[in-house]
Amino acid sequence: MVIVLEKNISEEKIETIIKKLEEFKFSVHKSTGVEQIVLGAIGVHPTFDIRKVKVLDGVSEVYRITEPYKLASRSFKKENTEININGVIVGGNEIEVMAGPCAIENEDQIFEIAKIVADAGAKILRGGAFKPRTSPYSFQGLGEEGLKLLRKAADENNLVVISELMETKQVHLLEEYVDIIQIGARNMQNFPLLKVVGKSNKPVMLKRGLAARVEDLLMSAEYILASGNPNVILCERGIRTFETYTRNTFDISAIPVIHKRSHLPIIADPSHAIGIRDKVLPMARAAIAAGADGIMIEVHNHPEQALSDGPQSLLPDQFAELMKQIKLIAEVIGRKM
Ligand code: PEP
Ligand code: MN
Repeated sequence: MVIVLEKNISEEKIETIIKKLEEFKFSVHKSTGVEQIVLGAIGVHPTFDIRKVKVLDGVSEVYRITEPYKLASRSFKKENTEININGVIVGGNEIEVMAGPCAIENEDQIFEIAKIVADAGAKILRGGAFKPRTSPYSFQGLGEEGLKLLRKAADENNLVVISELMETKQVHLLEEYVDIIQIGARNMQNFPLLKVVGKSNKPVMLKRGLAARVEDLLMSAEYILASGNPNVILCERGIRTFETYTRNTFDISAIPVIHKRSHLPIIADPSHAIGIRDKVLPMARAAIAAGADGIMIEVHNHPEQALSDGPQSLLPDQFAELMKQIKLIAEVIGRKM
């Protein structure tokens, strides 16, 4: 931690600050600059609240040097984390695509879409059985029946399955049917849920919250890692800003930022970020170019009849075209698909 002291601070105040820092168990080094004095406090604990120093009389600025997350950080683990999900590796050189409807609606729907997804070359089938909807009157998902259909449709097409968990008590139910547990944006800071999936032996995909900073996302990943599950995939799905022409604002810069800060793989979800079908393809291209380890795309065979997120779901032909285009971009940046 670096502490910049106020200009023309009295010796007495400096002594009081140093004493306080030593009480906090820091070892303190003082450097005198041309105009200001800077204190270096060594031994900062990840949970130390730097505001305790900011409020001290005579302190101008305080900067934390070490990150508050450890297990999720690149400094803790240099090499990329590769997660093997029944032979599909997320976080390696190959870019993985997760695709499917927002929600599982009925048997015909999920079987048709699973085939479309597999035929286009994607390996992971998505579909929500428990849906976090903004309105309590919107379709809430088929529950266990949906999970059964999702699993059957995936198995028939040799696909891996991802689906969202909303409640701690449903974790074992999800584990029975899915290969990757999704934690949705709205639950990114549902700490009891993070601890529960941290005890699961299934990989977890953690979506960035609507108003979460990258650091908040990494702190939430830390919960899962600290609870014992090393297989965490991060997901950038857009954040809330003042922009209204898109559903959210797709923070593509989060992709290289996360790669620098963390060893965990990062998936981009342009469907939820943009919320409008015709903008999903250009944003998917951008995400791959920015270094995403994969993308999540909503696809529907009859989006006009979809029970959720139809307007952002790609038609089968559009999805096939997307797969073709991102494969070309992957090649340009030296990755496989
Ligand atoms: C979803 O993937 O269907 C979903 C609800 O996403 P998010 O949590 O990112 O809104
Ligand atoms: Mn959706």
